[in-house]
Amino acid sequence: MLAILHPDIALESEAYRQTMHFLENLPGVSVRVHQVQGAQQRLTEVYLLGETKSLNKEDIEALPAVERAIRISDDYRILGRHKDDRRQSGFTYNGVTFDQSNLNIFAGLCAVDVPEHVEQMMQVLEDNGQVCTRMGAYKPRTNPYSFQGHGKGCLPWVFEKAGKHGIKVVAMEITHESHIEEIDHCLEQLGRPTGVMLQVGTRNTQNFELLKAIGRQTTYPVLLKRGFGITLNESLNAAEYLASEGNANVIFCLRGMKTEAGQPHRNMVDFAHVPAVKRLTRMPVCVDPSHSVGSRERAPDGILDVMHATAQGVIAGANMVLVDFHPKPEKALVDGPQALLMKELPAYLEDIQLCHDTWKKRQQIYNRLKESAAE
Ligand code: PEP
Ligand code: MN
Repeated sequence: MLAILHPDIALESEAYRQTMHFLENLPGVSVRVHQVQGAQQRLTEVYLLGETKSLNKEDIEALPAVERAIRISDDYRILGRHKDDRRQSGFTYNGVTFDQSNLNIFAGLCAVDVPEHVEQMMQVLEDNGQVCTRMGAYKPRTNPYSFQGHGKGCLPWVFEKAGKHGIKVVAMEITHESHIEEIDHCLEQLGRPTGVMLQVGTRNTQNFELLKAIGRQTTYPVLLKRGFGITLNESLNAAEYLASEGNANVIFCLRGMKTEAGQPHRNMVDFAHVPAVKRLTRMPVCVDPSHSVGSRERAPDGILDVMHATAQGVIAGANMVLVDFHPKPEKALVDGPQALLMKELPAYLEDIQLCHDTWKKRQQIYNRLKESAAE
């Protein structure tokens, strides 16, 4: 059971004290308080866990601090959608809103290499009105002798350049909990010129200790990649690990599944799951067409497979696109063969906008159908 308290209720108030006293003394029930900071207000959610079957929803709703109660299923308690659950989806971070109805594009370098390339990338983003990017500093590589990323050494100049070009959010993968501190320390020293979204890569989707460490902090939102060899349910539970530790500002990223059946693509594109994840959970959903497709192959219609895959995700309602670009893909230290070119960005953004608008129109068509059925 979940009790949602009145918005902005003061934790020192008598109503809150009385309510918590009642809930904490329910036999066999443990209580977990979760704060949600929305754009306008702060919500307090109280999760009641354990022997909750016999609890009466009306009794809980009668408590002075409670606005409403929801019976929740065991799966994805915090991030999931439950019956009669009208809770908001999404969050705002550093001035950028992420929810299940809007769209943000994170084009950038798979791996940070030299300052010149980062500068060129950020300049093109600024010229095209973009405020988000991806920049890999910590790279998990299959081969131990491959370039592992510049690590904390590159953070100061990457963040400075981001600030200079008006970038508000940098998606950056971390592979160890100590990287949170490195990022935080660097941003703090620079006076927070930009923000960071911590990315959990597909190889770490079930690294539960890493998930718990990231979940314990709420300074940075999280982009969790779907595990490439596990079920959707297992990956959604990984997202719930973050929320259960206190950080529910999570975006779920589809990035293709590892199987020979995906060939000629690097992975089997799984973007038909965009609406499924939105139905099962309240998380905004991201698609990563670069790691799904893995090449710059072009179809006879003149459109790259990466662009086609992007369109499929966005037209199905994706809320974020994470995509590799590089000024000189032949010089890239990681994943050059799948990178899009600087000059391709304007057309790519236009294509994405077209698909996002089409998704909105598709909703109208089906909503009209629903309305006429109700008449
Ligand atoms: C990446 O985004 O750079 C990356 C390594 O992706 P994934 O974890 O999906 O392989
Ligand atoms: Mn990559």
